[in-house]
Amino acid sequence: MKSTEFTSAAAAGVETGKQRVTGSNLAEVIGELVAANRILFRQGVVDAYGHVSTRHPQMPHAFLIASGTAPALVSADHIVELDLDGHEIGGTPQSLYLERFIHAEIYRARPDVGAVVHSHSPSVLPFSVVPTAQLRPLCHMSGFLCSGVPVFEIREAAGDGTDLLISTPQLGRALAATLGPRSVVLMRGHGSTVVGSNLREAVFQAVYTEINARLQREALALGTPVFLTAEESEACVATVSASIDRAWNLWSDQI
Ligand code: MN
Repeated sequence: MKSTEFTSAAAAGVETGKQRVTGSNLAEVIGELVAANRILFRQGVVDAYGHVSTRHPQMPHAFLIASGTAPALVSADHIVELDLDGHEIGGTPQSLYLERFIHAEIYRARPDVGAVVHSHSPSVLPFSVVPTAQLRPLCHMSGFLCSGVPVFEIREAAGDGTDLLISTPQLGRALAATLGPRSVVLMRGHGSTVVGSNLREAVFQAVYTEINARLQREALALGTPVFLTAEESEACVATVSASIDRAWNLWSDQI
């Protein structure tokens, strides 16, 4: 299909709000999203739970995400199109992730975000429950953490007694507000959410958030770590961002 046909198909999808956009470009994005699901499992970021999404390539107010399936088992058939209210666009009704509002409300709040990873990755979670243990960049691969890593406290948004899940638009908006302009937000007693300008960057940053957390714990066991400065972080991000495809190509070869 030619690119002009994508445009007209996308326009038709926007107008009706029901029509699924088809075409090889969309198929490529779905293929990368399937790979992202499997990479995140292989790299120890997600397990049976957690999810990754990417903004729809032709409808900026929609995103692509798997239906309620363990990431390692995701195939193209599981990918659905959701609008920013968390509703499925067209297609047959699916079992959707309860926490799809994480993705929807971040896409709504952050036009610069092209992909979102939510996980319960095990090395990161302890930093969400110990207020004095702030996750900070100590490795040249994780300079993107330099803008700070806030912790979302769901009790401030919904009081005591929740199941800690972001299962409503209101909680999604509160999480997006805590994330602000940053790349990573921790969720107390639950996990974390990592964003990127595109799918590969979000996956890369989710993997290195987990690695940095593990390294930080190990460094803290030895003594007092020296963290990257803001200037070093900025320089590291500039260098590393040019080679994200190298990591993606390795990881996608292993799924
Ligand atoms: Mn979760």
